[in-house]
Amino acid sequence: MERERHQPENTKNHTIVGPEKIKDLEKALHGIYGEDNEMVQFSGEKVVMLRFIETGETQLRTMKAGETEYAFNVPVRESLPDKEFTDINDFIASRAELSEKYRYNDGAKKEITSPEYLNWKSTLITPDQLIVSAQEMVSEESSTEKRGETLTCTNCSGKKTFHLDCSCKEGGTVFTDLTDNKTIYERKKGETNPGCPRCNGSGKYDNPCPSCQGSGYMTKYPSLRIINEATGQEDSVLLDVASLVANGELKIESAFYERSHASGDERADHKYVIRYKELLKDRMRSIGIDPENAMSVSDNGRVLDTHFALYDEFNFSGNSWSKTDGKINKKNAKRTAKDILQDEQKSIAHNMAWSGIYSEDLKKSPEEIKKIALKRGRVINDENVTTEDVITIRQMRPVHEAFNDLLASITAKGYTLGYTLSFIATGEAGPSFYILNKNGDVVTQLSNEYDIRSSLENAWGRFEKIKNRLKPAK
Ligand SMILES: [Zn+2]
Ligand SMILES: [Zn+2]
Repeated sequence: MERERHQPENTKNHTIVGPEKIKDLEKALHGIYGEDNEMVQFSGEKVVMLRFIETGETQLRTMKAGETEYAFNVPVRESLPDKEFTDINDFIASRAELSEKYRYNDGAKKEITSPEYLNWKSTLITPDQLIVSAQEMVSEESSTEKRGETLTCTNCSGKKTFHLDCSCKEGGTVFTDLTDNKTIYERKKGETNPGCPRCNGSGKYDNPCPSCQGSGYMTKYPSLRIINEATGQEDSVLLDVASLVANGELKIESAFYERSHASGDERADHKYVIRYKELLKDRMRSIGIDPENAMSVSDNGRVLDTHFALYDEFNFSGNSWSKTDGKINKKNAKRTAKDILQDEQKSIAHNMAWSGIYSEDLKKSPEEIKKIALKRGRVINDENVTTEDVITIRQMRPVHEAFNDLLASITAKGYTLGYTLSFIATGEAGPSFYILNKNGDVVTQLSNEYDIRSSLENAWGRFEKIKNRLKPAK
């Protein structure tokens, strides 16, 4: 039904992007100067790179915050076509050349091949040695014993609560007492608010550790349950790193971050890459999901992301090597293969610890708290400690179909589709989609997410909401 809702209303000729090109469309944003300056405009017939310029005029805008209305002037922008392409492939090809050029320019990345370096490399613990060690560890303990085993919370080191500085100390110089909304205090920065509901004016308050909910411990071997949203099929895996490595389900690879400079200086750090994503993909296939076109879904049905809860991990092994001014320095961490696997187990326990429970939820009954946690994808025990991570997965259609249909639906209404890189948070930007009129002026923003898949799905959601209010474009 999701599919049908997203079918174009009119399949007139539109620029088609095939399955093999959609990833390139994501990469093509490389070097784009963002929503205020540059945007790619897709219409039915062609692809145009737009550049926005300020006209020098301003427009009065208003914004409401609570009861107060603010008015401010924003510069008026107008879009100018900068470069035109015959189709999407033509556009992608031009961008590929550009990213190739960027890569060439910062191309100082060179492999280190000196015999001293290769010799040092050969002394490090290999993935094969990790497998052997994992097999030994598995024979020492059974997985039934492991269920329910705990470890000291890695976030608070068992302290349970944090004695924190209250943020009222940093507050402004004038504030209103919230109890009567009348009394107005004035105080200098660093002084506490005598009426602060959190610290009662002491400037300090106790907050239970958010990782262990104040219990002081974590589940050492959390389990992961995945559910196929459409069929209800389930699969569950105990996140026991040693067992998973021993039976070949979880791959650990050696990775070297090597830098070689023109001056002759060389540096390398050794890391382990743990392929949790591959494990998850294998498990998804077992419940009938094609992992290349799948997303996690929240309890209100909103499509969340394509990354799910588990990311591949890149952990520094503690081993590094460098050559500066002809002098060789090497550092070999004194960790055994078993140490590495045990540290990884702690790391997975730490990453899975979030219970989905906030302090305001704690006022509710234990049953209600458990329900709230489950809505947020966590099974918790009586002390609100996470024991299981639950992910509901929705099978999605291929990304290029979502793109082509969105384009067709928007052009059928007489508009065009804008695609650019938008600001998400400091240092982070991601693909975003816009509705533009034929001249390239912005009508509205549809989405902004970290990847093209999420961005397209949310663009669809917004388009469905507003499509009937869109006046037919001239
Ligand atoms: Zn803790
Ligand atoms: Zn306070």
